[in-house]
Amino acid sequence: MNCYQHTWVDGQAVHLPTGKVVCIGQNYAEHIEEMKAKAPGDAVFFIKPRLSLVPLSPSFTIPIHAGACHHELELALLIGSPLTAADPQQAMAAVTGFSVALDLTLRELQTELKRKGHPWERAKSFDASCPIAPWTPFSGREIPKMQMSLEVNDKLAQQCTTDQMIRDCATLLSEASHWFSFEPGDVLLTGTPAGVGPLNVGDRLKIYLNDDCIESKVIQK
Ligand code: ZN
Repeated sequence: MNCYQHTWVDGQAVHLPTGKVVCIGQNYAEHIEEMKAKAPGDAVFFIKPRLSLVPLSPSFTIPIHAGACHHELELALLIGSPLTAADPQQAMAAVTGFSVALDLTLRELQTELKRKGHPWERAKSFDASCPIAPWTPFSGREIPKMQMSLEVNDKLAQQCTTDQMIRDCATLLSEASHWFSFEPGDVLLTGTPAGVGPLNVGDRLKIYLNDDCIESKVIQK
């Protein structure tokens, strides 16, 4: 059974429950291009449930027999206080940490579901679909500009700086909070840059957030 609990980078437990994960579909221009999608006017929000959260390191699993499972490297925010219909300033005041996560996506299934006009949940919101790293404490007005990258088997797959987001963290969290109230322990994912691609069992991952490196491995379920 999944027993994920939020932890700080120093290994201490975060004294918050584990909540839902609110995600945005398209927030970096180059990823929209690689998906051959049009930049949407309205944000494309979706939710991963509590049991999607698992530790990113030292290893995580992917579904097999469900077609390609893609990595989407994303900056994650941890919400520390309740948030409803907040303005950008109020939104940032509720953020208590940041980290990196993978929005695992069953890409072939998602394409099929999109084609049929069906919701994406089975492709995006399955158990363990959100491996996430420990949290760096945050309090301030603005998430500082960060460099984020993912190497798969020592090959660079995804790289960006967080100022390339179409909606910045404050705008995104504010907008999301008008649709979905956030509770302490909830998470916001801020969208993936270009370079998404399939993962395979045995892949070794290195994820960098500025100078910090987290190593992980894809293992058999
Ligand atoms: Zn994503």
